Amino acid sequence: LTRLYGPLTALSNVRVDVMSALVSFERVFEVLDLAPGIAERPDARPLPAGAAKVEFRDVHFRYPSAAEVSLASLEDVASLDRTVTDEVLKGVSFTVEPGRMVALVGPSGAGKSTTAMLVPRVYDATAGAILVGGVDVRDATLQSLRDTIGVVTQDSHLFHETIADNLRYAKPDATDDEIRTALRRAQVGDLVDSLPEGLDTVVGERGYRFSGGEKQRIAIARLLLKAPSIVILDEATAHLDSESEAAVQRALAEALTGRTALVIAHRLSTIRDADQILVVDGGRIVEHGTHDSLVTAGGLYAELYRTQFAVIDSPLPDATTFPPD
Ligand code: ATP
Repeated sequence: LTRLYGPLTALSNVRVDVMSALVSFERVFEVLDLAPGIAERPDARPLPAGAAKVEFRDVHFRYPSAAEVSLASLEDVASLDRTVTDEVLKGVSFTVEPGRMVALVGPSGAGKSTTAMLVPRVYDATAGAILVGGVDVRDATLQSLRDTIGVVTQDSHLFHETIADNLRYAKPDATDDEIRTALRRAQVGDLVDSLPEGLDTVVGERGYRFSGGEKQRIAIARLLLKAPSIVILDEATAHLDSESEAAVQRALAEALTGRTALVIAHRLSTIRDADQILVVDGGRIVEHGTHDSLVTAGGLYAELYRTQFAVIDSPLPDATTFPPD
């Protein structure tokens, strides 16, 4: 989810924004509110308030090739051969019911991040449809999509600005009290209170440097402030110290409660909590079910579990990643 992405080209809307290097999905989607190449249809309508169901209907996807991207800037996309790159998703269908958590697991490169990115239209499907609250995301206003979906990734981005300003990207009119409440619920309130300048502390390279776990909790505070009905979470694979780990898990539990969640899951504790596990391999969902049913089924999940994941021997079960780094 956090990898670089090329600008999207689409036949109907050619707008190639050259993004600077190393732009994370969260930064693009949550903070800068940009969707390169994605345009709103003239007749777009807002998603229903509180839209919380997510459906994938036979979704296919391939990334635009470099040639497409450069041609797109010449506004000549219609003539493109769109079969240049391989299909990364090859007919993905599933439903996440409101308030439920679905975990995507599978080998590296299987298509988990790509699947997650299509929900808020970082890219559009090349075939098939994605519905949020029963509405095709391509028919929804971009603002309503952004209001409905919250994203937390592994490398949460903080700007070289104050803590309060960093949180107000999620809710520009948030009061200081609302910001403090969100920070407290995200398990980072005490830390911010302990800084001499509190909410006005400038963060980043030349300011206060949060640790990885703290940054992630700030991102969770941002999500809590925004209060979306759907959360997309790319769970961290990095091992945090056990105190940070526990704090992040508590913050996430707070953030996911009562919301629909699509989680790129790496931790067995999360996977076990999921209402449904989707096992992705080669751009397809090859198995689905609960942890116990999938272990019993003896397929790819059971193999990943057996060969890559030794929870029994782990001194820190909650911090164990799946598959391991
Ligand atoms: P990981 O667990 O390693 O993050 P993943 O299951 O999330 O893997 P994706 O990141 O969705 O997998 O990648 C699926 C496929 O798409 C891979 O073959 C990957 O190389 C390719 N891919 C990902 N991002 C791009 C991109 N921006 N341009 C072209 N191909 C990409």
